[in-house]
Amino acid sequence: MTQSTPSRNKSVLVVGAGLGGLSAAISLRAEGFDVEILEKNEKPGGKLNFVEIEGFGFDLGPSIFTLPQFFESLWERAGKKMSDYVELESVHPHWRNFFEDGQVLDLIEDQADMREELKKLPGDPEHHWKQFEDFLTYAREQYELVDEGYFREGLDTLWEMIRYYKLRLALKMDHSNSMSESIEQRFDEPHLRMIFEYFIKYVGSSAKDAPGYMNLMPIIQFDYGLWYVKGGMYNLARGLARLLDDLSIPVRYNSEVVEITKEGKHVRGVKLQSGESLTADYVVCNMEVIPAYAKLLSEPPKFLKKIEKYAPACSGLVVHLGTDRIYDQLAHHNFFFSRDQNKHFDTVFQQGKIPEDPTIYLVAPTRTDPSKAPEGHDNIKILPHIPPIDPDNPPSHEDYMALKDRVIDKLERMGLTDLRKHTVVEDVLTPVDIERMYNSNRGSIYGVVSDWKKNQAFKFPKQSSRYKNLFFTGGSVNPGGGMPMVILCGQKVADRVVKAEG
Ligand SMILES: Cc1cc2nc3c(=O)[nH]c(=O)nc-3n(C[C@H](O)[C@H](O)[C@H](O)COP(=O)(O)OP(=O)(O)OC[C@H]3O[C@@H](n4cnc5c(N)ncnc54)[C@H](O)[C@@H]3O)c2cc1C
Repeated sequence: MTQSTPSRNKSVLVVGAGLGGLSAAISLRAEGFDVEILEKNEKPGGKLNFVEIEGFGFDLGPSIFTLPQFFESLWERAGKKMSDYVELESVHPHWRNFFEDGQVLDLIEDQADMREELKKLPGDPEHHWKQFEDFLTYAREQYELVDEGYFREGLDTLWEMIRYYKLRLALKMDHSNSMSESIEQRFDEPHLRMIFEYFIKYVGSSAKDAPGYMNLMPIIQFDYGLWYVKGGMYNLARGLARLLDDLSIPVRYNSEVVEITKEGKHVRGVKLQSGESLTADYVVCNMEVIPAYAKLLSEPPKFLKKIEKYAPACSGLVVHLGTDRIYDQLAHHNFFFSRDQNKHFDTVFQQGKIPEDPTIYLVAPTRTDPSKAPEGHDNIKILPHIPPIDPDNPPSHEDYMALKDRVIDKLERMGLTDLRKHTVVEDVLTPVDIERMYNSNRGSIYGVVSDWKKNQAFKFPKQSSRYKNLFFTGGSVNPGGGMPMVILCGQKVADRVVKAEG
């Protein structure tokens, strides 16, 4: 609680110290609640995680930091300044894009440099620039609309959206097209189409299934920058842990919650794996909603069936390599595109199969932070998006390793010569590891999928529909996955709890 906030004499247990849980705990403390966090792992941050192997510092989860304003507002709410806890460095260029036809194109924040860069593409550069500028104008309109209500008001349902936006929802928000359709209407250059479609990577969904207004995503980096957390992404978790200390919020690590105890339409507290029971006025759950309802609340199959529409976003094969040479052609963030991106989206999101030739995200952080690898070495993280685990037909470990081999073959073919031969350290996480480490739904890495037909791109509401004093936070809750979104979610959950208090 900040010095000026009176205590409410009301208690909250937060299940999970992922970014969504930490943000909710800090915001609730700032509102005068007594808060305690229970975390199954031995450290905070959840998917924001790291490992150090033989002098290579690997960020196991997020590598791109965007929308700093949503983080700053959390610190402000706690009466503190973010820059006293976390330092950000801007990343240039934003991304480097590699295509199978040999085309390479950077995404650059500076307009004059971006305009120059477009001259690398076949065709008329002025025409490309006009389409690029027009697309950003359309994307900015979509961003501003979504930001004003869905983000900042913390809207949770279609009814709340209709009440807030009124006619603008139908007239201004681009929901009649898919993301891909709106891109196709605005770009005729195939490389640009593929690049803008793959902005969907921020939420682990398919540009074919997500609504057009999700084309707001380029704006998060073109207007608000693309950042690295100085010293490594995990320094964000360290900064948040210091804020918890300063606010006297206790965290119990190695404390897995195995049950949320309930009585009628209320929850009473939680039971830990150790057998200990704790009670509270409110429970805020940062474990994903579907596994929480299934495993912690043992809800009936009929209810679990009803919430299946909040299907998991994609998972990923996360491959970390330390190499004994530097690949100079790489920027900090890189994409190696699939020959056929339509097929990639279709295989992962419609068929639920491991793709033959996925679009690959590759991070080489030493371009911004040389401390992440020994001198003369490279630190490379490779992340193709793949389906969440199908419980009825789970891929074998060999299937995942075959994908790893295909991906490395592709990278070698596209210029990372002898990548395999130069690898001196390797660490791989499959969807099975991701599910085990964070209790995510079938190994999802961004919470709930944004799919117009399945869920109109909504995630779960912040307040449980079954228990009045149970709230959810994190990537499976509106506004969804990605660090800025879950940090925002925690703040909006606190607003809902305050509202429930009356
Ligand atoms: C490989 C990868 C790359 C990514 N890249 C980016 C990126 O570049 N930029 C970006 O913004 N986002 C990225 N993301 C997504 C981002 O990491 C997540 O959206 C965000 O960190 C999720 O936060 P969360 O609070 O929802 O959940 P989590 O981080 O999963 O936190 C949940 C926490 O709850 C704990 N928990 C679960 N069950 C229990 C229980 N029963 N008892 C006690 N504790 C429990 C877990 O251990 C965990 O600490 C990436 C994710 C991954 C995995």
